[in-house]
Amino acid sequence: MTTVGSTGASTYEAVNIFFDRAADRLKLDDGERELLRRPWRELQVAVPVRMDDGRIEVFTGYRVQHNGARGPYKGGVRYHPLADREEVKALASLMTWKTALVDIPFGGAKGGVQCDPHLLSEGELNRLTRRYTANIEHLLAVNRDILAPDLGTNAQTMVWMMDEYGRIHGHTPGIVTGKPIELGGSAGREAATGRGVVTVVAEVAKDAGIDLKGGGVIVQGFGNVGSWTARIADEMGCNVVGVSDIQGGSYRSDGIDMKQLLRHKDETGTVTGLPGADSVSNEELLEQPCDFLIPAAIDGVIHAENAPRIKAKMVIEAANHPVIPEADRILNDRGIKILPDILVNAGGVIVSYFEWSQNLYQAHWKEDRVTTELKKIMTRAYRKVSETAEREAITYRDAAFLIGVGSVAHVARMRGFI
Ligand code: NAD
Repeated sequence: MTTVGSTGASTYEAVNIFFDRAADRLKLDDGERELLRRPWRELQVAVPVRMDDGRIEVFTGYRVQHNGARGPYKGGVRYHPLADREEVKALASLMTWKTALVDIPFGGAKGGVQCDPHLLSEGELNRLTRRYTANIEHLLAVNRDILAPDLGTNAQTMVWMMDEYGRIHGHTPGIVTGKPIELGGSAGREAATGRGVVTVVAEVAKDAGIDLKGGGVIVQGFGNVGSWTARIADEMGCNVVGVSDIQGGSYRSDGIDMKQLLRHKDETGTVTGLPGADSVSNEELLEQPCDFLIPAAIDGVIHAENAPRIKAKMVIEAANHPVIPEADRILNDRGIKILPDILVNAGGVIVSYFEWSQNLYQAHWKEDRVTTELKKIMTRAYRKVSETAEREAITYRDAAFLIGVGSVAHVARMRGFI
């Protein structure tokens, strides 16, 4: 079971602490809570793969459909050694509250295969992806459950999934989002989560009177979300002072030259060892002074031990569940504001919604339209969260869960589930 920080709680139990606080405020009774907390459907599958050396290795895969009251299930598929049932359940429930918070017509789901994609060849990844898709295919449909990329998966993974699903059901681009544009992907999808993250940074900076060119931005993780966040933040005039990937980080207090960094990453495959910057570990990077600390890699990186040493003015949760509940309390007590994952990283699922809609009526939006509509939805959601937080005198996270859980409970009641 994936546990986070020093609490020993599973990620699922930890996320439910935030759910329970919203349920208390909404005065949901025990039965209503149980219905909304518990996943509707959980599937575990064996994923046997013929490895390049001729052996058969059997991986474990999951698809969890958490809640579909507001629309078809929607959620990414993660390839990671820690992607176990509890983690996938937690991430599926976060998708339910996220899609409700930003008000797009989807429910919440998540998938995962317990594996280290970096240790697999392209052929092995292809075979693993096809076998996983074939084994969960009976749960999927464009109006039932739609897949997307997450940690360790990408546009290529989505093509293999679409292709495998299509072998059984006929060509169905809308069954996955995050596809390459040539195969029905949306302009702007790749950058979407990062663009949404930076939209939230810009809005909260305006409200808090923080100059984006000032104390700087640190981004942990340089994959899809982290790299686009850093690039778009830089384009918007932010002073990006620190970045990292799984190998470690680079920090420069007067700002990193983004063009130099991207060149360095292209040449070496990593953001560590950037000439002219200090090399730091991931742990050290999180503790450097900055205005906005943006964890954009994995879960549970800010915990009870390092929370007292965080020096950022605000933590912007681009990754899912990067701050565990104990750390959340410590940062709140220290006056460090946290913008929660279900708001901050919603840009990906919002543009997935645009992609799915375009696939359904075979349309192609221009990137400008995607960006404008994305910013509109992100800004509206941020405003709702910030107004609710102020009105109820609660944290941004509690406000975001209050809106998300409240919306799902309302629709579940209308449909007669509760
Ligand atoms: P990715 O696989 O593209 O990139 C992950 C990055 O994190 C890589 O740079 C990797 O080197 C780094 N990393 C991995 N393990 C690390 C560790 N132990 N310490 C430090 N860095 C580490 O993944 P992604 O799609 O960018 O997703 C990142 C996070 O954002 C995840 O929590 C994911 O659930 C969340 N998210 C992603 C999307 C999306 O559209 N891709 C949308 C919403 C949320």
